[in-house]
Amino acid sequence: MQAADRSVVGHPEAKAALEMALLDLVGKISGLSVSELVGGRLRDEMGLSFSVANPDFDADLEDVAALWDDGVRIFKLKTGFADHAFDLMRLERLRDRYGDKVDLRIDYNQGLAAYDAVRTLRDLEAFRPTFIEQPVKMHEREVLAHISHVIDAPIMADESVFDAKTALLGAQIRMADVFSLKVMKSGGIRRALEVASIARAAGIEVYGGCMFETGLAHAAGTHLMAAVPDLRLQCEFYMATYYVQDDILLEPFPVRQGRVLVPDGPGLGVSVDPEKLAHYAVANVMD
Ligand SMILES: [Mg+2]
Repeated sequence: MQAADRSVVGHPEAKAALEMALLDLVGKISGLSVSELVGGRLRDEMGLSFSVANPDFDADLEDVAALWDDGVRIFKLKTGFADHAFDLMRLERLRDRYGDKVDLRIDYNQGLAAYDAVRTLRDLEAFRPTFIEQPVKMHEREVLAHISHVIDAPIMADESVFDAKTALLGAQIRMADVFSLKVMKSGGIRRALEVASIARAAGIEVYGGCMFETGLAHAAGTHLMAAVPDLRLQCEFYMATYYVQDDILLEPFPVRQGRVLVPDGPGLGVSVDPEKLAHYAVANVMD
């Protein structure tokens, strides 16, 4: 991994894929799971959050109802892509329908303007969100710190924290109450654990985030979050089960009753279907 860092600046997703392959290999040789290799398997399952992001909210309500029947109780509402009234209406409808049984989170994906973000966020506090994710631009770290100080709901940094350096910077100015960990942002599981360690030392919570991923990357994320000492806010590895039409794993990524199960077995604990891999591959470096 050090050679990869010396050779190429950035490209954390590619480096994460390389590290996943190496850890899977070492795990399969040693008989240990990836979570055991990187720090210990501290849990066997974790709660699953599903992201609600459809401009057609009635369609989202149907999806939420089906997921509720599946045992999912955590929902993350993507906000800031339409007007503020639309966001408030959706929060009100979800709170009315599911009461305190639903764990509601909010994600702006950097969508608010810094100058009046606080006023907008104050309107949301009545709906008791578990956290509010990345309300302003990734580089507006002082603004994010200010928001964290004046808004009661916990604020989560996602795009503002990629790696140990940005985590340290964020911890020093108490930029947020929660950091989102992602294997693909940090460039691997061990790098994401560096972010988790800095967060823990600063009294900042962590959360298991993901990009648009298949079950293979979800498995890596699950092993990462299984090795994190404290995990109160759970994870969002829902895409392989509820989003992708066709996964590349031989066995479905393990989700049951709104819980993600940490795969058993050595390495990542999952196997890629070689036929599907060949079907979806865009290039083969061995040719
Ligand atoms: Mg996010």
